[in-house]
Amino acid sequence: MTPTPSRPPTHPAPSTRAGPPGPPARAAIRAVVRGAVQGVGFRDATARRARSLALTGWVRNRDDGAVEVHAEGAGEALEELEAFLGRGPRMAQVSGVAVERVAPEGHEQFAIRGVPAGMFVVQRHDQLGRRHFDLRLEVDGALRSWALPKGPSMDPAVKRLAVQVADHALEHLHFETARADGRVVIWDRGPYEQGGRVPWPEALARGHAVFVLHGRQLRGGFALQRTHPAAPGSASGAQWLLIKRRDEHARPGSDVVAERSVEGL
Ligand code: MN
Repeated sequence: MTPTPSRPPTHPAPSTRAGPPGPPARAAIRAVVRGAVQGVGFRDATARRARSLALTGWVRNRDDGAVEVHAEGAGEALEELEAFLGRGPRMAQVSGVAVERVAPEGHEQFAIRGVPAGMFVVQRHDQLGRRHFDLRLEVDGALRSWALPKGPSMDPAVKRLAVQVADHALEHLHFETARADGRVVIWDRGPYEQGGRVPWPEALARGHAVFVLHGRQLRGGFALQRTHPAAPGSASGAQWLLIKRRDEHARPGSDVVAERSVEGL
């Protein structure tokens, strides 16, 4: 993985210490915080504290009412974060923290997971007898767009070509037309979350972006992986693969394009 300026700075080991010189070891923890810890600003406070300690990772609310944290960085900073998790922000009542040491995963940001970043839409586009699908993700006030000749898949073994096209305006989240020579219907739409170890939109710029869709047809984690760059000076024409990630929403062997009607959306 390419190092970037967003990584916390590393320092040479003090010369008085025994052992080989080099950056301090990165360690990682996974913590589950229980108590009255949701709806009290716990995720925001944890993210602020972690970033101020140059830690990376993520925080999320779990369905069972707990807050879960993955943090990685210097050992002393992790100890400080652990101490913070034991009390939390002012309105929280922490009843217990279970901390486990885990392997660092190479996160380059401290993210709040489970929070929508905007909307996505998939449009089915029938043009002069040919059909393709258009995937659009809201990023920084515009819709990053890809044309999918075969549409999306919920099967993690299937990689679908996605050719990047020009950004579209947000109005296209709602665009449909019945024109005979270019019929467009909304096939799926909903909020999505930005995921992965690299912050957006840098993840897209680097050609590997992970996200979670909350649509009617498309649900769970997906990845866009760039395989061929566009011509210099333009994002249009770059070739990507859209791949369903393996999670509880994946449906191996399925063909969502064939089986899902768009009626009633
Ligand atoms: Mn199209």
